[in-house]
Amino acid sequence: MADHHDVVIIGAGITGLATAWWLHKAGIDVALLEHDPVVGGTMKTDHDGGWLIETGPNSALETTPLLKAISADVGIAHELIYANDVADKRYILRDGVLHPLPMTPGLFLTSRLWSIPGKFRLMKEPFIGRASKEETIAEFVTRRLGKEFLDYAINPFVAGVYAGNPEQLSVQAAFPKLYALEKKYGGLIKGQILGVRERKKRAEKAKDRSRLFSYRRGMQTLPEAIGKALGSRVCTNTNVERVVPSRGTGEASGGSFRVAATQNGKNLSVNANAVILAVPSYVASTIVESLDIPLATSLKNIYYPPVAEVFLGFAQKDIQRPLDGFGFLIPSKEDRRILGTIWSSTLFPNRAPAGHAALTSFVGGSRQPDLAALSDSELTDLVVEELQSIMRISGRPIYSRVMRWDKAIPQYRIGHLAIVRSMEEFESRHRGMFLSGNYRGGIAVGDCIINSEIVANRVKQFLAETTNIVSL
Ligand SMILES: Cc1cc2nc3c(=O)[nH]c(=O)nc-3n(C[C@H](O)[C@H](O)[C@H](O)COP(=O)(O)OP(=O)(O)OC[C@H]3O[C@@H](n4cnc5c(N)ncnc54)[C@H](O)[C@@H]3O)c2cc1C
Repeated sequence: MADHHDVVIIGAGITGLATAWWLHKAGIDVALLEHDPVVGGTMKTDHDGGWLIETGPNSALETTPLLKAISADVGIAHELIYANDVADKRYILRDGVLHPLPMTPGLFLTSRLWSIPGKFRLMKEPFIGRASKEETIAEFVTRRLGKEFLDYAINPFVAGVYAGNPEQLSVQAAFPKLYALEKKYGGLIKGQILGVRERKKRAEKAKDRSRLFSYRRGMQTLPEAIGKALGSRVCTNTNVERVVPSRGTGEASGGSFRVAATQNGKNLSVNANAVILAVPSYVASTIVESLDIPLATSLKNIYYPPVAEVFLGFAQKDIQRPLDGFGFLIPSKEDRRILGTIWSSTLFPNRAPAGHAALTSFVGGSRQPDLAALSDSELTDLVVEELQSIMRISGRPIYSRVMRWDKAIPQYRIGHLAIVRSMEEFESRHRGMFLSGNYRGGIAVGDCIINSEIVANRVKQFLAETTNIVSL
């Protein structure tokens, strides 16, 4: 590998890979340094005797046209698949029974998921004023929609997206679009109605109509294909330890950095005009420690709860209920030991051998972090017991696999926006260094891809201002 590159990117998860791709496509010389032997970070897929096992995300929402664009660029557009139509149906457990989440006003009125007083409480929503301080999701939802809606809609939803707890997350940081409805329109219901009209005028598609996608051979297809298209620009088995401004002052005015790493146990030093950190925040913390101790401390303190993902394969005949939806989520009030289950083989074809069903359940998260530390056999037994009671499954699984994430998903807690501001200040003090990844601007795969393009454009702008590598 050459000892100088226009841009060095650290971390080849989907954020780093997509950022590298946009820069490479613009003719910029990039090197992507990755700790693991393979690229993809959280997005990995295993194949075993007809079972397709996602070890991280099982699917993602196509919230941006960039997803199709990058898939076409790297030659996998034909591999993209969209979820079965029944995936729109999502269940929530209440009093031990799975209730479909109502998707129309008519179904809402007849749904047994919420009580009549709970439904009446929603009608007050348009008359409630704006917040005067940064609120948790729980505070925001209780104030606007009532406690029952928090308990039996938002609590399980937050567990499904963040493996998180609405009492801890900042609504402004974790669900900025929801918060914006109150800020811009004065309420969620008003915001929904006016938002639809505005989107119609602009001929935009609503985010809640975004389709759920994967690839024929699973989610890893995307990082793998980008990695392959980048070729020798990707260096795996490379652990970055430090980034030092070459000018030695710590206040890099024009951007010139030395990246210190070990590659297969040997020291490696690479110089770059710009450096993008696309690693988890606790790794970014150690890399920026010598430059900014307060920021390093804040990045280290972003909580990533542990999650165990338990993949079970059953004979179809042993599952009594129809698998007619995405799966189900469990409110914490139900006092169960799983957060929810995705009916994986209903969503996409070729996830299980013929006559079998694949179910992926999640255990732990901020709600019950200790459970994620159980042994594989304890976790399997626990999930089987819960599924037998919730889904009327009779037999034992004929296939099982436990995947663990000791640090799964960053929690955008109260105070997260202040950390984001410190990152911005850091970037303006150390021009040429960029902080990116799922702890900034959204955790969904779609958010990571959207942010990768934003960061790539900022890097191009920086190179155009400080070098003759790019002209805009
Ligand atoms: C269990 C689970 C389920 C999920 N489900 C969904 C879902 O259904 N839908 C959805 O949209 N999203 C889902 N997500 C979230 C989504 O998968 C992630 O937010 C996204 O993949 C993160 O990508 P990233 O590139 O920012 O980070 P990562 O994937 O964490 O990549 C960071 C990379 O940096 C590398 N690295 C770390 N340290 C160093 C170092 N010192 N030097 C060099 N490289 C280093 C790592 O090896 C890794 O490859 C899920 C996440 C988890 C954990």
